[in-house]
Amino acid sequence: MSDSTAITGRLGAGRAFIALAVVFVALFGFVVMLIWLDQQKVLDATNRLQDDTVPEIIRYQRLSRNLEQLRQEGERVFAVSSPQARQQALFVAKLVASHPSVLDHRPAAELARQVERFLAEVLRQSASDDRAIARNYEAWRQLSAQVSLLVDDVSVQGVNLASRDLREVNAAMQVARYKLIAVVLLEAVFLCVFLFFVRQTLIHPLQNIYRKLSQLSVEQPPPAFPPAHMLEIQAVEESIVELHASLVANEAARQQLELLANRDGLTGLTNRRHFMLLAEQELARAQRYRRSLTVGMADLDHFKRLNDTYGHAAGDAVLKAFAALVGDTLRQSDLSCRYGGEEFAFLFPEVGIDEALRLAERLRERFSGVEIRVPDGRLVRVTFSMGLADATLLPLEGALKLADEALYEAKRGGRNRIAVAGTLSEA
Ligand code: GH3
Ligand code: MG
Ligand code: MG
Repeated sequence: MSDSTAITGRLGAGRAFIALAVVFVALFGFVVMLIWLDQQKVLDATNRLQDDTVPEIIRYQRLSRNLEQLRQEGERVFAVSSPQARQQALFVAKLVASHPSVLDHRPAAELARQVERFLAEVLRQSASDDRAIARNYEAWRQLSAQVSLLVDDVSVQGVNLASRDLREVNAAMQVARYKLIAVVLLEAVFLCVFLFFVRQTLIHPLQNIYRKLSQLSVEQPPPAFPPAHMLEIQAVEESIVELHASLVANEAARQQLELLANRDGLTGLTNRRHFMLLAEQELARAQRYRRSLTVGMADLDHFKRLNDTYGHAAGDAVLKAFAALVGDTLRQSDLSCRYGGEEFAFLFPEVGIDEALRLAERLRERFSGVEIRVPDGRLVRVTFSMGLADATLLPLEGALKLADEALYEAKRGGRNRIAVAGTLSEA
């Protein structure tokens, strides 16, 4: 596992998550606050419309109605002929002029007082002068026009009040709508950034880790990862690299052990146990497909004498030289092993006895011609004898026994020669 300096500067998944959560909550809180403020504006405007503006509009309506009635009563004073009816109209006009809706509105109150005074004056004059009504009518027409103008004015003011508040509500809702759109876009951008971040820092590296893990093998080079942003991802990636390294080391150790278990320590040839294993397989295959197969047993000649004369180390050198020559002379498919001491066993797949004899002769000739330098510097020549047996129809042990018997015959025949089982005794 990496040390702490190697992972400095990388973000832990926990911290990254908390940072993102804080940003998200802050953003969300901000958005909620914005929406709440806008809602409040709309609410204030509608409340004002309901609590202040609507009663105000009603007041204006009432005022305009009263002013209109005042005007009509004034008109009646000039229209009727009986003094009682005129007095009655004046009375109603006074009532209307003293209505709170009129008194509360200064221009209306002033105009109403003017009308009231004018009508009262006209009636007073008419009591002594019959033509006073007709004489004052023109003046009344002007006053009536002023009242009409004020009625229109008051109606327009009411309508204006309503439209002012509705405009405010509308503007607040419009702003709220734009803010909502902006906020939704902002959240969408944040979500995209968040998803991209998760994809880059977690999903992609995890997919890569999965791919590398499924391809992990000693035959493949060590897995390489791009620089990780997340502490935990980097730790997993480093573990995979370490896992690969230990797999490679284990495989090398296994191969080394296998070599040690299957090879002869002195000559490097296959040992007897492993040879028997491989030979059994070859024999089974050859017998199943009815293919030729020959086995051989070889033994170095007068080896004891060599040991006695030149020393044990010289004997070892000769054993090694023989093994090396075997390796150089035989084909890849041929099996050879140190069977024990200075004895060697051979197996020639797909080779009949005649071909095997030629191979063995070549080996014998080459070995007998080789001068081997022993540790004390002297040169020695050594020969070997060999027995061959056809293993096509025999079990391995039986075939090797036959080859061993042939070897014994070769020794008896004078050594440095090859004997074939089943032929030599007749020769
Ligand atoms: P023959 O020609 O009849 O085979 O005679 P020989 O002397 O070779 O036969 P013998 O079996 O009497 O001698 C075998 C000798 O091989 C005896 C033993 O000391 C020697 N030997 C066996 N293994 C080793 C070894 O690993 N290194 C050495 N230097 N000598 C060995
Ligand atoms: Mg011998
Ligand atoms: Mg021997």
